[in-house]
Amino acid sequence: MIILDHNIPENQVEQLRLWKIHFKQVGFEVGRPEWDDQQEIIRYLHATITQPLEIGWLSYTTDVFPGFDGAVWRWRYSGDSILRIVAFCPRCDMQLAARYDRVGFGGDRTTLACENCNWSSSEIEGELNEIISRVERLIQRKLRSGEYKSLSHGDR
Ligand SMILES: [Zn+2]
Repeated sequence: MIILDHNIPENQVEQLRLWKIHFKQVGFEVGRPEWDDQQEIIRYLHATITQPLEIGWLSYTTDVFPGFDGAVWRWRYSGDSILRIVAFCPRCDMQLAARYDRVGFGGDRTTLACENCNWSSSEIEGELNEIISRVERLIQRKLRSGEYKSLSHGDR
């Protein structure tokens, strides 16, 4: 990225535009006119280039995935790992408990149930640990694709 100082004369800036040279000028495209200090510009570039990516994915710690009737999933990160994936009630935010229903060979089904307001999901295929690893894959897919960035995390 080419960064121009704020006090480059307008006709010279115009000349660069005519030559189709891409740049950002301090005080116009980036930063503020009073920034004549290199340190301040470098700090700005660090903030815009490195931070949004890192803070972005680290703050992606909750989502609602299709197939769980609106149950709210939350988790944490430790290094590259996704930890403690837990489901919460879409109605009252109580942590959901898993109930099992054994329907035969390899056919375990789980219901996520709220002990506070009696909300419950429909039957989900698999045991809780299988469901959690499915959710982990859903999280990882969104992290890889960058889709998590379009979600708003503000009020959750
Ligand atoms: Zn509830």
